[in-house]
Amino acid sequence: MTFAPFVIVTSTTEIIRGVSRVRVNEAYTNALAAAGLIPVILPPVHAALAVASIADIAGLVLTGGEDVDPALFGQSPHPTTGAPHAARDGYELALARAAAEQRIPTLAICRGAQVVNVALGGTLFQDIPSQQPSNIDHAPDDKRAERVHAIAIERDSVLAEIVGATSIRTNSSHHQSVDRVGRDLRVTARSEDGIVEALESTDANWWMLAVQWHPEELTATPENWDRRLFAAYADAVRAAGRD
Ligand code: MN
Repeated sequence: MTFAPFVIVTSTTEIIRGVSRVRVNEAYTNALAAAGLIPVILPPVHAALAVASIADIAGLVLTGGEDVDPALFGQSPHPTTGAPHAARDGYELALARAAAEQRIPTLAICRGAQVVNVALGGTLFQDIPSQQPSNIDHAPDDKRAERVHAIAIERDSVLAEIVGATSIRTNSSHHQSVDRVGRDLRVTARSEDGIVEALESTDANWWMLAVQWHPEELTATPENWDRRLFAAYADAVRAAGRD
């Protein structure tokens, strides 16, 4: 049987022109398709159905979006924390835990990185400007595709191997970040002010890369770091060889 590299891409719901719709930025699906993967957008469904969906899928991509409900990591909301999306939180946490248990190759982006951390028992800073103040703006306006700050990457990490460097520049569009790190995860990149910018699994059998920036918005830049990131994920999906 020919292997078809279907990957689940998580999504949100939003009222657009008066109707509630399932939505995901096209940049994600374009970047995955350019790497040879077949993106399958999964709406926020019941957690049990979400877990069932990955039984026959080759990979999981957790996308960016809303703030995670702080109740899910034992905190009350900071004044700047957005209204939770309960259905999305529920299905993405279930997917992240199932992917860890079943060792399904997982790429987690922005909110996705935060979801993986919370799913595995970690916590978040809900508001970087007040809780981790620095002179780096992690959420500058109108710069989605601009490399606005540097990150330092751990030498012996999957991320360093992928990009072939221990220092790169990334975009930044997040006002939250990882605080206490979840089970079986390690921090493999930070910005100069110490904010966690990448997490990896310490389980050698689970390929999981979580990045706080938005590589899908940077695939057309002269630097090839982000194209290599999607190519490496596609290689991991094919290597897992599920069909
Ligand atoms: Mn950042």
